[in-house]
Amino acid sequence: MYLTNAMKFIPKHPFFSVVLLCLSFTLLSCRSAKKVSFKAPVDTTTKYIKLQLKQTYNLSDVGVYASNDFDGARLNGFEKENDSTAIVVINPENVPINNSPYYAFKTWTNSPKTFYFKFKYPKGFKHRYIPKLKVNDVWSVIDSSYLFKEDSIVTIKLNLDKTPIIVAAQEIQSTTDVKNWYTELARGKESYVRIKSAGESTLGRNLPVLEIYKGDREQKDLIVLITRQHPPEVTGYYAFQSFLETVLDNSQLSDQFLHKYRVVAFPIMNPDGVDLGHWRHNKGGVDMNRDWSIYNQPEIEQTVKFINKTLKKNKSKLILGLDFHSTWYDVFYTNKTKESTSLPNFIENWFLSLEKNIPSYKVNEQSANSNKPTSKGWFLYGHNAVGITYEIGDKTPKDSIKLFGKVSAEQMMNILLNNNY
Ligand SMILES: [Zn+2]
Repeated sequence: MYLTNAMKFIPKHPFFSVVLLCLSFTLLSCRSAKKVSFKAPVDTTTKYIKLQLKQTYNLSDVGVYASNDFDGARLNGFEKENDSTAIVVINPENVPINNSPYYAFKTWTNSPKTFYFKFKYPKGFKHRYIPKLKVNDVWSVIDSSYLFKEDSIVTIKLNLDKTPIIVAAQEIQSTTDVKNWYTELARGKESYVRIKSAGESTLGRNLPVLEIYKGDREQKDLIVLITRQHPPEVTGYYAFQSFLETVLDNSQLSDQFLHKYRVVAFPIMNPDGVDLGHWRHNKGGVDMNRDWSIYNQPEIEQTVKFINKTLKKNKSKLILGLDFHSTWYDVFYTNKTKESTSLPNFIENWFLSLEKNIPSYKVNEQSANSNKPTSKGWFLYGHNAVGITYEIGDKTPKDSIKLFGKVSAEQMMNILLNNNY
């Protein structure tokens, strides 16, 4: 604002523009968070994205409706192929983008009818997610006898009537659902779970953060939990939920842990992408998990500032960062550098104890230092902390996810309390 006003009084000469640019750069950089450099930088400046038109499609001569008019929906077109089949057009928010073709729409008819839906993605993208169906508020996975695959083109069959069915790539967990969950989780725990805000997304959605500790707030080492940088990665979010619920489960372990350590947990890093039904990016058309170097995107910039401010204010050290995602299978991506971190033996001991405490479970670890600006690399290069990308498979059953989340939280607390790192 003051710069805009000041500009009116500065003669329009290239020299003055340069001075002004330098001045504004200095002012901005004073206030910005410390950058972290990576071997393979990625351009994370804001890109154009194409917003889907929110509407209800009506194939009037066959009496079938489809709508994307809700948070988390994605439907870019709905066209009649013949009297029993519609083409479901699904496009990404922008390209290039990886193959995570997310879709979600609501469909119904006025009178009962069996109808087919054929998925159509742009060239180069293939169907990935098995459809989940929500009827009368209950989610289920589509029965395999209702799913047909021909040359990688997927068609599903549904028995429609007046009750809308939501068809989605993954169960929908919108910003409202996430808020309901953490509000409920924190209820009755107000003295040690503080719901705060790290700021706002590009479209003004809240960036919530739960700050958790008991007793004296100073000099407690910090553990950072984050999730939903990538909107469709709901199975990773379920592990995050189970993990945090265990940290807050009122057990003796939890009580001791929270007297010694502080946790900050970010339950929805990309609220715009989640509610807009994105495949991977935020409103800025960027993969947020490549922006942990110079923080072009507001979500990452404000998250980093919040973490750094918390550390400084409480004279504490970031020791561990877990970033919950989903991919094709369960895997932990770790950094190769372990010895020089604050917890040199943590990973080894954690994985051993997971295998010991989860029946017939074998840890899948893929270890490499991050060249690209991911959160995992930021934890290591920016803080000398252990950084782990905690990936849950797209198809991992919910009860297994719950168990992984629970046991991994318990074992983390055990190891950190027993100085077994
Ligand atoms: Zn991811």
